[in-house]
Amino acid sequence: MSFKLILVTGGVISGLGKGIIAASIGKLMQSRGFPISMIKMDPYLNPDPGTLNPVEHGEVFVTEEVWHFHPGKGVEFDIAEIDEDFGHYERFLNVNMHPSNNITSGQIMLSVILGERKGVYLGQTIRLIPHVTEEIKKRVYRVAERENPDILIVELGGTVGDYEAMAFVEALRQMRLEVGVSNSVHIHVTYVPFIETLGEFKTKPAQLFFREVLAAGLPPDFVIARTPSPLPKNVKKKLALYASVPYDAVFEDPDLDTVYNLPLYFEREGLGGKIEKRLKLKGKPDMSEWEEVVRKFKEGEPRKIAMIGKYWRMSDVYISILEAIKHAGAEAGVKPQIIPVDSEELERESGSGWDKLKKSNGILLTPGFGSRGTEGMISAAAWALKQDKPFLGICFGAQLATVAFAREFMGWTEANSTEIDPKTPWPVVDLLPEQKQIDEVGGTMRLGGHKVLLLEGILRKAYGREKVVERFRHRYHIIREYAEGMAGKGYKIAAVDATRRIINAFEVENHPYFIGVQFHPEFKSRPGNPSPVYLSFIEAVKEI
Ligand code: GLN
Repeated sequence: MSFKLILVTGGVISGLGKGIIAASIGKLMQSRGFPISMIKMDPYLNPDPGTLNPVEHGEVFVTEEVWHFHPGKGVEFDIAEIDEDFGHYERFLNVNMHPSNNITSGQIMLSVILGERKGVYLGQTIRLIPHVTEEIKKRVYRVAERENPDILIVELGGTVGDYEAMAFVEALRQMRLEVGVSNSVHIHVTYVPFIETLGEFKTKPAQLFFREVLAAGLPPDFVIARTPSPLPKNVKKKLALYASVPYDAVFEDPDLDTVYNLPLYFEREGLGGKIEKRLKLKGKPDMSEWEEVVRKFKEGEPRKIAMIGKYWRMSDVYISILEAIKHAGAEAGVKPQIIPVDSEELERESGSGWDKLKKSNGILLTPGFGSRGTEGMISAAAWALKQDKPFLGICFGAQLATVAFAREFMGWTEANSTEIDPKTPWPVVDLLPEQKQIDEVGGTMRLGGHKVLLLEGILRKAYGREKVVERFRHRYHIIREYAEGMAGKGYKIAAVDATRRIINAFEVENHPYFIGVQFHPEFKSRPGNPSPVYLSFIEAVKEI
C-alpha cells in the first residue's frame, strides 16, 4: 500500500466550504489521471449524523451502499447516512462513496471501548494516544487498502482547535510521518473577513489558527483563504509569513458564479501543478469535459421554483436538492431561481408564502420529519393539485401530497400520515411493515440504494428504463389499499419496490406534471448527468 496523502484542515470558523475545496482538489488530481480516494473525519461523538437536527447540522447525505458497522460483540449499526460533504465529493468526482469513508469519533470510541471488552488491549490503560489515534489511522489505512488510490485526500471536519478534534489532529500528524512528509501535503483552509466599516481585510483570526496548526506539528504547505473577493498582495504576504509558507503557496477561494467553477479557478491559479510537484507526481491535466459541464451552468431561461420546506433556517439542509435542480437546469437550458418558502408561513391563510407560490413556475415539496409545519405543506400540495404548475414531492413531500390528494378528492378530511396523527381515521401513510418492531432510531430507517420498478407513465419515460436503483431514507410509506382506492380520481402508482408491494412513486392523471417519489433522486444527480426525475420536472417547468 503506497499512496500520497493530501490533508485538508480548517481554521477560524466551520462552514467555510472546506468540503467543496477538498472536492475541487480531488478534481484537480483526478483530471491528471490519478485514482483518488476521499475521507472525511467528523470529530463529533455521534456514530453518524442520522439523528442530528437538520437545522443545526445541515443535510444528511445518503450513500448507495449500506455499511454494516460492527464495532463489537452484539453491536451492529447500518450506516448509509453520512456527512453532506460526501455529496460534494460524489458530484465533483462522479463516484459513489463508501459510507465507511466518513470516520466519526462516535465510531472510533465504540470500536476502542468494545475492543477493550473483547480483550484487544489486555493489560493496558486505554488512552487517546496511542489507542484512539491508532484506531483512527487503522480506519484510514483500511480505506486505502480497499480503494488502492494513488492519492488519498483526508478532510478534517470543524476547525483544528476544536477539543473533539485533538485525537484526529494527532493521528494526522502521525500519518504524515508514516506516509513520509515528502509524500504528503497539508492544505489549511482559513477565513479572511473583509470589514466594511474599515474597508480592510483582517488576518488576525487566520494568524491565531496558524499558531494552532504549527503547535500541533502540522505545518501547512498551502493556505487557501476563503474571502469574498481576491486578496491584495500585502494581505497574502502577511498570511504567508504567519503560516510559514512561501508567498506563492497562498491561494484564495473567492465567491464564484457556480461552485463547479472552483476546480477551474484553482487550476488557472496553478494550485494543481504545485500540489503535484510537491508530491513528486507527473500527470497532464485535462479539464476539457469539466469546462463544458461548467459552461452550461451559465446559460438558460429564468424560471422560479418555489421550494416548500420546514428547515429553511439553514439552506444547507437542502443542498443536494438545490444542486440537482441546478444540474437539471443546466441540461434543459433553464436558469432556476429558487424561492424558499417556509411551510409554517403557509399555515396562515394570507401571507407572503402564498404569494410566492402564485408567482412560481413550479413547486417542490421537500423531505422532512415530524409534525411541525406539515399542515402548511399539505395545503400547498392541495392547492397545487388544482393548478397547472409542475409539482414534485420528494419523500415526505410525496407522502404529504398523497395526504392532500386524499383530503381534496376523496373527502377523507382527516387523512394523514401516522407520523403526524397516529389516530387518523384515514392513515394513508403509515410505518413500513418491518419498521413496526423497531424501537431504536439511530441507523434504523430503510436506507441506501434499492431497486425501483417503474410502471407505465411519465417517470418511466423520463428514465427510459423499467428498473433503476435509487436511494432511500424513510420509515413511513404510502399505503397501497388507500392508493388503489384513489385510482378512480386519478392517483396512479408509478413505481414499486422489488416485492411490488411497496409504493415508490405516484403520478396524478389529468395534471400536466404532478409527481411524488418516495426515494431521493437528488443524491444520484451529477453535473452533466442530472437525475431523470429532476430533469423531467425542470423540462415541465420550462414549458409554462
Ligand atoms: N418522515 C418520513 C419517513 O420517515 C419522510 C422521510 C424523508 O423525507 N426522508 O418516512
